[in-house]
Amino acid sequence: MVDRPNHFATRAVHGAGGPDPATGAVVPPISLATTFRQEAVGKHLGYEYSRSGNPTRAALERHLAALEGAEHGFAFASGLAAEDALLRLLAPGDHVLLPNDAYGGTIRLALQVHAPTGLVVDTVDLTDPAAVERSWTPATRMVWVETPSNPWLRIVDLDAVGQLAAARGALLVVDNTFATPALQRPLTLGAHLVVHSTTKYLGGHSDVVGGFVATDDAELAERVAFLQNAAGAVPGPLDCYLVHRGARTLHLRMERHSDNAMVLAERMVEHPAVAEVLYPGLPSHAAHEVAARQMSAFGGMVSIRLVGGEAAALEVCRRTELFTLAESLGAVESLIEHPGRMTHASVAGTANEVPGDLVRISVGVEHVEDLWADLLRALG
Ligand code: PLP
Repeated sequence: MVDRPNHFATRAVHGAGGPDPATGAVVPPISLATTFRQEAVGKHLGYEYSRSGNPTRAALERHLAALEGAEHGFAFASGLAAEDALLRLLAPGDHVLLPNDAYGGTIRLALQVHAPTGLVVDTVDLTDPAAVERSWTPATRMVWVETPSNPWLRIVDLDAVGQLAAARGALLVVDNTFATPALQRPLTLGAHLVVHSTTKYLGGHSDVVGGFVATDDAELAERVAFLQNAAGAVPGPLDCYLVHRGARTLHLRMERHSDNAMVLAERMVEHPAVAEVLYPGLPSHAAHEVAARQMSAFGGMVSIRLVGGEAAALEVCRRTELFTLAESLGAVESLIEHPGRMTHASVAGTANEVPGDLVRISVGVEHVEDLWADLLRALG
């Protein structure tokens, strides 16, 4: 088996390895054992205790690392557990710059869990170089990017931020949950660390919660591995198996998600009830050209702002039938939600509050005409 096949579709199916070497099984066996026999003290087959290392988790970690083109990968119990490990790389007094439109849970984690123990946290519009410059301090050690962002679908120029971080000795972390490695590979664009909520597109079927970290840097990898084991927020083998199974069709799903989202975004631009469509694939998007440079397609997430304000937004969410009103995103079925009152309620009342007229849509892989008919009905 070629270690790193060149084409993404082949990597998505095969990951970094072939069938299970012990049995020939073409999918990784689910290893439920919590402990592993040692022939003599310290002499074992690579596994001692399942928190520290588990064969099903290791297969997933190799697979997702291959998708990101990374040397090292670490699976976590959730996206936030993975993010928590990355923030723990910093010391009290260190400064982290977060996007002002980061996933609400990311901002809550930084501000309410890490800031009380000494981390200095600022949120900034990372699409505005002058604002980044103003927020930078001598203690800035990490810049955290989400691109496309949730739920504004803003695009950050990874190359530009990567160069700035490199010049000033800060770590660049990219949350690649929305784009996935099928569409964007941040480690090739200057990121030191990539983080995922595998709950979304990588799992892809709304049936497992998980997180992942990838890096090419051996020293960072050692520290993340330490935190994964020492803090212990690891996924169980069944969860690892499900994420692994989902990831093998990532390329096919992302293609359909992106095609469907583009059609719906273009049509919604023309709809009189829609004040604004936020989708990086539209030439009218403020950073369409940056997106086109760093992504191979524009993904399945679209946000819209309603002419009728919050009442209209809530009504659209209530009226769709194929688009299920639910939190989360990135699965085969289409979802719709109201970030202000649902996913981003944790930042309500802050400067990062999401306005009530905004609706976020996770476009699934159903037939696009059925999806459009549902949206048309709901928009009224
Ligand atoms: N990052 C992004 C962009 C997200 O949308 C989410 C969850 O919605 C997370 C991280 C957190 O992941 P999890 O819910 O798996 O903890």
